[in-house]
Amino acid sequence: MKIAKIETGSIQIPLVTPFKTSLRTATHVDDILVRVTADTGETGFGEAPPTAVITGDTKGSIRAAIEEFIAPSLVGYDIEDLDGIMARLSSCIQKNTSAKAAVDMAIYDLYAKRLGLPLYKVLGGRSNTVETDITISVDTTSKMVSDSLKAVKDGFNILKVKVGKEGLKDVERIAKIREAVGPEIQIRVDANQGWNAKDAVRIITALEDRNLDIDLVEQPVPAHDLAGMKYVTERVYTPILADESVFTAEDAITIIQERAADLINIKLMKTGGIYQALKICSIAEIYGVECMMGCMLESKIAVSAGAHLAGAKGIITRADLDGPGLCSIDPYEGGPEYNAGTILLNETPGLGITHVPGFED
Ligand code: MG
Repeated sequence: MKIAKIETGSIQIPLVTPFKTSLRTATHVDDILVRVTADTGETGFGEAPPTAVITGDTKGSIRAAIEEFIAPSLVGYDIEDLDGIMARLSSCIQKNTSAKAAVDMAIYDLYAKRLGLPLYKVLGGRSNTVETDITISVDTTSKMVSDSLKAVKDGFNILKVKVGKEGLKDVERIAKIREAVGPEIQIRVDANQGWNAKDAVRIITALEDRNLDIDLVEQPVPAHDLAGMKYVTERVYTPILADESVFTAEDAITIIQERAADLINIKLMKTGGIYQALKICSIAEIYGVECMMGCMLESKIAVSAGAHLAGAKGIITRADLDGPGLCSIDPYEGGPEYNAGTILLNETPGLGITHVPGFED
């Protein structure tokens, strides 16, 4: 079963509510799609979002990396030589992790289909269900409270609240959200690099002093400031989750050995796909550092690849895979079922996605 063709397409899906973090505002999923076709006619699908502020990848750069470098390097290779394909994918172009992730997941989709198994069973097979949080975007306090209440009413038990622009005012916001949703709902906080180390300690200590019961605080300081993140991690009780600071397996080794964070957020768009993400899982298993499976602003194809990995590996104890929950429509057929906070993985082969707009032929 050889790779015969790698093609790109695109998808635009309006969001239910604009997605606002301390770094950006987005109103649509606007992603590059990938179809890998084998010489048997079987297909695998992938997806990559242009998260330029984090990965540096744009739609143009993702498409060009795939069409000009990745596709010519991989066409003709046998799908069963997964290791060989992944070595070529990694070395045919530097960086460009989103483009690599889209192709990597499409190849895994095909590989699992070849084996006749759902992808999570190929990767480890731990569980067919994954519980995800949902993002509450940065906004006025009253809007954030009403968005939180709506999420809980819709069936989410875990909220990921975006903060990071207004210092101690964020503590008031979270207190209002906690008051509104009650003690049973889990709250995670994501600062998206919005604080400096000292402010982070002050704000997180204030959250602790008010007993707001925060599950974790994600990326409090700028991505490059590992010393700052270590400073924060050492001074607060709340677990600190490294997100933008960890792209590669090498980054994960550094963060863990420096004890710069307590937890690691794995995203396929940062690692360059499942094959590289599995390396982070192995490192984290060795050190006993729990991971979260995260996503960018992605729709069902890419999020489902992450969900299958999350279901496969016990070291991934948390999931932030709310992309499909933020989209106003689901343009695909097949794949995992997204029922509010619960993701039920497909038992059909691969990612299970059978219809992708633009690839109808
Ligand atoms: Mg984050």
